[in-house]
Amino acid sequence: MKVMKFGGTSVGKPERMHQVATLITNETEPKIVVLSALSGTTNTLAEISHQLSLGYKTPAKKKIDELEAYYKNFVETLVVTEAAKTEAAEIIAEHFDFLNIILKISYSDALNKDILAQGELLSTKLFCVYLKEQNISHTFLPALEFMCIDENEEPRLERIVRRLNALLKDNKSETLFVTQGYICRNAREEVDNLKRGGSDYTASLIAAAIEASVCEIWTDIDGMHNNDPRVVDKTLPIEQLSFDEAAELAYFGAKILHPTCIWPAQQKNVPVKLLNTMQPNAAGTVIRQEAGSVGVKAIAAKDNIIAIKIKSSRMLLAYGFLRKTFEIFEKYKTSIDMVTTSEVAVGVTIDNDLHLAEIITELEQFGSIEIEKNQTIISIVGNEISRTEHVLQTLFNSIKSIPVTMVNYGGSAHNISLLIPSDYKKETLQLLNKGLFNL
Ligand code: ADP
Ligand code: ASP
Ligand code: MG
Repeated sequence: MKVMKFGGTSVGKPERMHQVATLITNETEPKIVVLSALSGTTNTLAEISHQLSLGYKTPAKKKIDELEAYYKNFVETLVVTEAAKTEAAEIIAEHFDFLNIILKISYSDALNKDILAQGELLSTKLFCVYLKEQNISHTFLPALEFMCIDENEEPRLERIVRRLNALLKDNKSETLFVTQGYICRNAREEVDNLKRGGSDYTASLIAAAIEASVCEIWTDIDGMHNNDPRVVDKTLPIEQLSFDEAAELAYFGAKILHPTCIWPAQQKNVPVKLLNTMQPNAAGTVIRQEAGSVGVKAIAAKDNIIAIKIKSSRMLLAYGFLRKTFEIFEKYKTSIDMVTTSEVAVGVTIDNDLHLAEIITELEQFGSIEIEKNQTIISIVGNEISRTEHVLQTLFNSIKSIPVTMVNYGGSAHNISLLIPSDYKKETLQLLNKGLFNL
């Protein structure tokens, strides 16, 4: 059995949904199809939720109405029979009734998660209406019945395995299952999600849970490119990546993959393929245990980074200092990306400023604190990259004009990371594209 995940743009237009139906019925291997919300929907839901959190009901209502009109228009082209149109209209009415009801109740974080879940609930149900109209036999698997996270917002893999396999066992003869990406239940059994872009994570968790033959991530580009195609003009797809390389790229900003979506597939050694819905015959990228080659493969950039420098001549020589420092970040559930140390200072970066004020207050007991906001981590990723000849020389020769704030080298054999002010991101990515890839 395999997993096929289709992202927002792959289901964002009626004709794309039709194409997805063709793609999933082209071959006979049993499959679980994971769908995202239609492109733009989760952003709109997040805006509605934000407005409601501020008490701005009128603009929220306007957005809800516009979104409803968009969906009504969408199903006009999605399906043709009266029966299917009626069914689709009922689904839309159900979900927009919900959104209109929340205008009248008080806002909470749990409600926010409910609002954000509407996109995947709608896309999967409407897709199933189309499949039914086409007489394509399938079973709908509600993600809220098996996808779950614990109190630390980590997936409960064992429970997912148990629940999902029980659902599959109930439908033994079925060869096509459809489910939602992104949404799940949390430790309080409320509706929650796997964070933005989380449908990839759903796909990988399902792939691990059923030990799938492959986890296919279908999107709007022909695989992982060597550099960010949104920023740099000339980029090329990469044929093969190891799990470790892909995980580093995803974590450090390659938007094509959710930051932590590789580990479940890696744990069960399920290959992950990145494929293009618009160009289904393109080779794409395969991610597996083996890297395929040695050396620089790709560059990714992660924005909104904060650098924190702790300066102290007193504490650093004392052992236990780093532990005490890191414990503060642990206490506030704030993960550290980059670390550098010198005799008198420790520099770290974080991407989550939720508890920045508390962290700074606690760190001040160790020395003076310097903060630099609006930083970007540029990660250069490749198998055994840190042992590749001349890589550092070529790297720094190509970015002579860039004021680098911090460097991480040697921690991972697959990654060299630079911290730069975000204003220099585009220039840095372009210079590295020329210097490292001659593109
Ligand atoms: P989906 O909606 O299918 O999940 P995403 O928008 O999340 O799609 O991811 C695909 C997008 O990721 C591409 O359109 C591309 O702009 C962006 N992207 C960023 N970095 C890379 C990269 N290194 N390789 C390929 N795509 C990338
Ligand atoms: N719909 C969600 C989002 O936009 C999840 C996803 O697309 O992966 O973040
Ligand atoms: Mg995505």
